[in-house]
Amino acid sequence: MLSERANSLKPSPTLAITAKEKALMAQGLDIAGFGAGEPDFDTPQHIKQAAIDAINEGFTKYTPVAGIDPLKDAIIEKFKRDNGLTYKREEIIVSCGGKHGLYNLFQVLFQEGDEVIVPIPYWVSYPPMIELADAKPVLIETHEEEDYQVTGAMLKKYITKKTKGIVLNYPSNPVGSVFSLENLGAIGKLAVENNLYIISDEIYEKLAYDGYKHVSIASIDNAFKERTIITHGVSKTYSMTGWRIGFAAGPKEIIQAMSNIQSQSTSNPTSISQRAAIAALNGPQDFIGMMVGEFQKRRDYLVGELRSIQGVTCYNPKGTFYVFPNFNKILGKSYKGKAIASSAALTELLLEEFHTAVVPGVEFGKEGYLRLSFATSMEVIKKGIERIKKAAEALE
Ligand code: PMP
Ligand code: GLU
Repeated sequence: MLSERANSLKPSPTLAITAKEKALMAQGLDIAGFGAGEPDFDTPQHIKQAAIDAINEGFTKYTPVAGIDPLKDAIIEKFKRDNGLTYKREEIIVSCGGKHGLYNLFQVLFQEGDEVIVPIPYWVSYPPMIELADAKPVLIETHEEEDYQVTGAMLKKYITKKTKGIVLNYPSNPVGSVFSLENLGAIGKLAVENNLYIISDEIYEKLAYDGYKHVSIASIDNAFKERTIITHGVSKTYSMTGWRIGFAAGPKEIIQAMSNIQSQSTSNPTSISQRAAIAALNGPQDFIGMMVGEFQKRRDYLVGELRSIQGVTCYNPKGTFYVFPNFNKILGKSYKGKAIASSAALTELLLEEFHTAVVPGVEFGKEGYLRLSFATSMEVIKKGIERIKKAAEALE
């Protein structure tokens, strides 16, 4: 018999849809895939070369659990350069992906009886990871018309004696929204007053459009920094999803506790990938500009096309490679006599009948929406949007 914990856990829906999309393509079906949340670019050559060099030099053994010093130094330098934040080595941990860092963090911060505030729409893995720590996710509804902001007044209503933390993710998956400086200030102030931890997932920091300049909440006030743990990684910025390197920065007691969990579970992140991550962080950064330029063209096209579908509205993302169009006005219609009443039903219809893979909004806590990743070629985007338009027209 499996544990209750295992029985109540389902696989990550984003990864499940991506796997389904790939399996159908392997069967020879022409699927337009908007599922995968990973850049479609190859990892830059100088990063690959650093890994090859590491192998050839025999850098293939255990490393310190929390990562090697040259990588911690490269991460420290990144925070100084990009965010004006100063950290020491003992305030940095390298994990097997950003997701692993978040999992360890929730395990060390939260326990039964704790409440953790998470704005909706949220990245699919936050609530399950909070529950795996026996804590309770407390979800705050945010709205398209309000730029998906969390204000101090909104947050206040959800803080109780049990509240231990708040999870921020900006630019956000699945919407691509960012919090205003004013709201970050208000959230930080409430965190200080109520002794809350701020978990700031800034993994999409560099994937930003229209001149948006990311400001980490930790850099606004030292009192915020003292209670913030930034989680980050190289997966998205350098197209390194398969290398599994993430990192976190925060108070040293928390980082040490995360390292203890890591030492009893995974040990160090891959030695070879750590050397590649040093090359990514310390090497030329022009790859990012090239990738973001391409993403911006795709975003402009996709948002324009989605908005041209009658009844569909679409927030224009300020960052990430996702769009989160609102299909609520279309839901409730029927396809060949079958009612399409939910984002899951619409997702199924799109995949089965129109060979287009998307992720239903309900998985992000928002019914009636769909998430489309535009980390795929313009050719696939054009094909997929034509199919979505056909599906919308076929609903009556
Ligand atoms: N946070 C968010 C919001 C994400 O979308 C992802 C992507 N999976 C991650 C963290 C973790 O990324 P990874 O584990 O690949 O570094
Ligand atoms: N973050 C990506 C996504 O949301 C990758 C899949 C995952 O880890 O959830 O699609």
